[in-house]
Amino acid sequence: MLSFEDDVTPAPNPAYRPVPRPSAPGPENPEADLKSRRVRVEDKRVINGQADVNQLVPFKYKWAWEKYLAGCANHWMPQEVGMSRDISQWKDPNALSDDERLIIKRNLGFFVTADSLAANNIVLGTYRHITAPECRQYLLRQAFEEAIHTHAYQYIVESLGLNEGEIFNMYHEIPSIRDKDEFLIPFIDTLTDPVFKTGTPEDDQTLLRSLVVFACIMEGIFFYVGFAQILALGRQNKMTGAAEQYQYILRDESMHCNFGIDLINTIKLENPHLWTPEFREEIRGLMRKGVELEYRYAEDTMPRGVLGLNAGQFKEYLRFIANRRCQQIGLDELYPGANNPFPWMSEMIDLKKEKNFFETRVTEYQTGGALSWD
Ligand code: FE
Repeated sequence: MLSFEDDVTPAPNPAYRPVPRPSAPGPENPEADLKSRRVRVEDKRVINGQADVNQLVPFKYKWAWEKYLAGCANHWMPQEVGMSRDISQWKDPNALSDDERLIIKRNLGFFVTADSLAANNIVLGTYRHITAPECRQYLLRQAFEEAIHTHAYQYIVESLGLNEGEIFNMYHEIPSIRDKDEFLIPFIDTLTDPVFKTGTPEDDQTLLRSLVVFACIMEGIFFYVGFAQILALGRQNKMTGAAEQYQYILRDESMHCNFGIDLINTIKLENPHLWTPEFREEIRGLMRKGVELEYRYAEDTMPRGVLGLNAGQFKEYLRFIANRRCQQIGLDELYPGANNPFPWMSEMIDLKKEKNFFETRVTEYQTGGALSWD
């Protein structure tokens, strides 16, 4: 039990770092001294910044703030989506084939833990290494969206009455899922290691590498076979409740991926010395590895062609996406000439708020609150 004699003084907050100014007025002019410590736009940096991270404004990284606003405008909650049609289809032995059931289960088997991994990576890792408050503001929104996604997958599992132990343990037990997670975990572990901090070119590259793996490979490649599969089911009027939720998740995830890419590109701009030819080649190798792992997952979830989709199309699709990710962060394409066999996926990503693709409902969070105090 603590007594008043115990030293309970909190450690100085490492997030608060007043900016020392060489020409700062001295103690003889305290008001000017305080004003001279005000945050200036030019002092802000995405990594290794010295400006106070508690002050959102003056804005420097408007793209991050705008993504935060867009994320809020797209707010949704899983339990708003009706699941009764999905439940009766799942119970009806003739409504879905065995292959379709396998896709749904393996798909959830990856996603039920993937967004927890993503959330932990943000909250325990990325967040503390990013020193731009606008970017931190977006990361807070993103962390909540990851929680909503985990909630959505859990809600689908529960609604369909699936075996929770089986689904939630697939990331240990199904090799094609486990391999994807095992690829990611070392990159997450570096950022969440309490001893790790940025500040040297080598450590800054470690952070940058993990950011690329997370945004471009995990959120940018590893989610796409799963999204395409469930959305293809929805397009055939199967499991439309689950598909509608995946559609909202896809919209959120494509924003996470775009935020990550803007973050990476800004760090490159502010620290060009990190983006060496060797580092770029290393990143291309990681992308190639990501494509292989995701392709193996595609083969494993759909050993036979199903829903008019086959593993070969996924190979092409993954190559197409990987090229796009490379191009977005300024790398040469890995698979020249790869085409998009699923152009309908772009429509899904560009979903407008007012109308969802499966036309099951309309939600408008932007119209503001309707609180009543009576
Ligand atoms: Fe995400």
